[in-house]
Amino acid sequence: IIASQLVVPDEINVNWKDIAGLDHLIQELRETVILPIQKRDLFADSRLTQPPKGVLLHGPPGCGKTLIAKATAKEANMSFINLDVSLLTDKWYGETQKLAAAVFSLAVKLQPCIVFIDEIESFLRTRTQHDHEATAMMKTQFMSLWDGLITDPSCTVIIMGATNRPQDLDKAIQRRMPATFHVPMPSDTQRERILHLILKSEPVAPDIDYKRLAASTEGFSGSDLHELCRQAAVYRVRDLARDEMAREMNQNKTNNTDSDDEFVDAVR
Ligand code: ATP
Repeated sequence: IIASQLVVPDEINVNWKDIAGLDHLIQELRETVILPIQKRDLFADSRLTQPPKGVLLHGPPGCGKTLIAKATAKEANMSFINLDVSLLTDKWYGETQKLAAAVFSLAVKLQPCIVFIDEIESFLRTRTQHDHEATAMMKTQFMSLWDGLITDPSCTVIIMGATNRPQDLDKAIQRRMPATFHVPMPSDTQRERILHLILKSEPVAPDIDYKRLAASTEGFSGSDLHELCRQAAVYRVRDLARDEMAREMNQNKTNNTDSDDEFVDAVR
């Protein structure tokens, strides 16, 4: 189960070049996450400069949190485990505790490694008295495994969580994620950059007005822009295919009429 969620650095298919309009965030990730991994000796020297073992990306859906997490792993030459939280929250699964331990031990074996948890608030939300006993135990176990990473200065495993509801996260979890980054809805200029990136190698019209397109897509996330471009591309191909089929049908009709005439001539 875990292996199916695992990617080694060579197989990660995205890097910084696949992210548009977030240069400032990339720079911060470089300094906060990547530099301490690459210059571990310098950072691990003092307790005050320990690299972060928890990073939180928060912001609206479709704005590139998963993309950023993967690209960070790629750029830092780290393995990437995408942990499906439903495996840990399914109370009937029964094996969740073993699984959590297995994920951490796999990450330690593969280090440097990022363990990515999308919608992290869904299983590490503020604890309540109504928590199911199994859920409470799982959270406690998860945090103690995480603390194991935090207290080991030589360990280069980072838990990277993504959420669009940071306010729902347990305070204890927030403390374990000292590096927190906002991934916002793209502005006009950012949408323009994203559109340029998506359409980079596509057969677009030479007079395409990216500025106007960006201005008319206010409220679109990067993922919405991707879907918009995909639909436009599909419409174009569909139009071409429809024209080609109409031409072929006309051709067939002409051919059939010709052979009908030949048949009539032969009978005569
Ligand atoms: P969710 O919260 O729904 O999981 P997310 O914030 O993790 O969403 P991603 O899954 O990373 O968003 O982004 C979805 C897709 O949107 C990406 O695969 C990419 O095609 C496109 N995208 C989003 N933001 C950007 C960006 N800044 N630059 C380029 N592409 C982007």
